[in-house]
Amino acid sequence: MSVELHFLGAARTVTGSKHLLVVNERRILLECGLYQGRRETAHKVNREMPVDPDTLDAVVLSHAHIDHSGALPRLVKLGYRGPIHCTEATRDLSELLLRDSAFIQAQDAAHLARRGQHFEPYYDPEDVERTLKQLRGVPYHQEVEVVPGVKVHFLDAGHILGAAIVVLDVDDGQRSLRITFTGDLGRRGMAILKDPEPLPTSQVLITEATYGDRLHAGCGDMEEELARIVREETRDGGRILIPAFSVGRTQAVVMYLGKLMDEGRIPRLPIFVDSPMSTAATKIMARYRDLWDQETRQLLAKGKSPFFFDGVRYVADVEESKSLNLIQQPCVILSASGMIESGRVLHHLKQSITRTQDCVLLVGYQAPNTLGRKLLDGAQSVRIFGEPYAVRCKVREMCGFSAHADWQDLMAMTAHLAPHLENTFIVHAEEGPGLAHLRRLRDAGFRNVDPPENGTRKRL
Ligand SMILES: [Zn+2]
Repeated sequence: MSVELHFLGAARTVTGSKHLLVVNERRILLECGLYQGRRETAHKVNREMPVDPDTLDAVVLSHAHIDHSGALPRLVKLGYRGPIHCTEATRDLSELLLRDSAFIQAQDAAHLARRGQHFEPYYDPEDVERTLKQLRGVPYHQEVEVVPGVKVHFLDAGHILGAAIVVLDVDDGQRSLRITFTGDLGRRGMAILKDPEPLPTSQVLITEATYGDRLHAGCGDMEEELARIVREETRDGGRILIPAFSVGRTQAVVMYLGKLMDEGRIPRLPIFVDSPMSTAATKIMARYRDLWDQETRQLLAKGKSPFFFDGVRYVADVEESKSLNLIQQPCVILSASGMIESGRVLHHLKQSITRTQDCVLLVGYQAPNTLGRKLLDGAQSVRIFGEPYAVRCKVREMCGFSAHADWQDLMAMTAHLAPHLENTFIVHAEEGPGLAHLRRLRDAGFRNVDPPENGTRKRL
C-alpha cells in the first residue's frame, strides 16, 4: 500500500508541467505540458516522454494553456489511449489550442526546411484529433473516480476560462489522504472570471509559485491606467496596436474598452480584433456565462454583451485585415501573438512602427529574445520579416492584466491550510520566486515545504 508523487516537469521552472501520482501501482498523470523555451532544449525535452504512456491509467488536466496541455497529443502519439479528465471549458479551449499547436509546429518545420534544417513536429493534426476524443469534460464540483481509490473534483482557479484547482481524494486501503493541486492560480478581482475558490483542507499541497516574488498593480488602478493611455495616445490621431494572447487577455481588454466608452471615460473608437484564434476563443468564452463573475453577468443583464457590441469588429479574412492599414483615424487593433512572434500582428506592426503618432501597448509578459521584449527594452531598430525598421512609434506597457496570483494572493489563498498540511510541494516556479515562496511558507508555519527537483520521487 503506497502513495507516491513523481515530479517530471515544471519542477524548478515554469514550463512543461508533468506530475505523476502513483497509488497502489495505479498511475495518474497530472498535466502533460509542452516545454517552451530555447529551441534545442525544447526539442530534446518534448521528444522524450518521462513516463511510459502504456503504464498510465488516467490523465488529469487543470487547464488548457499549452505549458500544461501541449504534450498530450505527443502522449497519445506514443500510445496513451485512456481518459483525460478536465473541465468542460478546458476541453473546448484545448481543442483550439492543441490544433493551433500542431499548426505552429508544421509551420516551423516548413520554415526550417527552407533554411536547410530538419525539425520533425512532436505530433500532427491527426494526433490532436485522437487526443480530443480522449478528453472527458467534467463540471466543476462533480466528483469522478479516475482510478479505484482516487476521486477527483475541480474547483474554479480563476486563471483562464475552465482553469481548475484539482482536488484528489486518495484512499490506498489503509488511510485517506487529500492532495490539492493548485494548477495555475488566478487573482481576485480579475476581469470576466470569478475569483479563485477557497482551497480545501488537505494533507498535501502542490502549489504553483510563478510570481512567488512579485506584486501586481491593483485591478482598479488598471482600468484608470488603460483609460489614460487610450486618451493620451489617440489625441494626436494615432492608432493603438495591442498584441494580445488570444485566450483571456484579448477578451479582458475588449470588455474594459467597452466599459470605459460606456462610462464616457474614453472617446468612442473603433476596436478591431484581428486574429482568427482570438475570435474563436471569444465565442467559447461567450458560451460559458455561468463561469463569468457577477460584474460581467450584470452587463449581460443590462442587455450588453461584454465582447460583442457596437464599435467592436472581429476581422474575418486576410483582405479585411490588410484594409485596416488604410484607416486614417484613431482606433484600437488587438491582434495575436502576444509577444509579437508570429501572426497578423506583425503586419500591423510593420505599418505602425515608423509612425510617431501610433502606439504599441504591451499588456502581457514578454519573454527574453522576443520582438515584444526588444520593443519594451527600447530597441532603436528591429527586424520584421527579416527587414530592418527604425522604431518611431511609442511603446507602452501595462502589467496589471496578469492572470497569475502574485505572492500576496498566493499567501492569502493558502495560509489557512498550514495547520493541516503534512507536505507542501512548490512547482511551476523559477528558482528565485520558488525560494522566496518557500521562505514565506515556512515563516507562516508550513511544515515539510519542498521545491522538488526534476525527476524526484516523494513517498507520502
Ligand atoms: Zn496557465
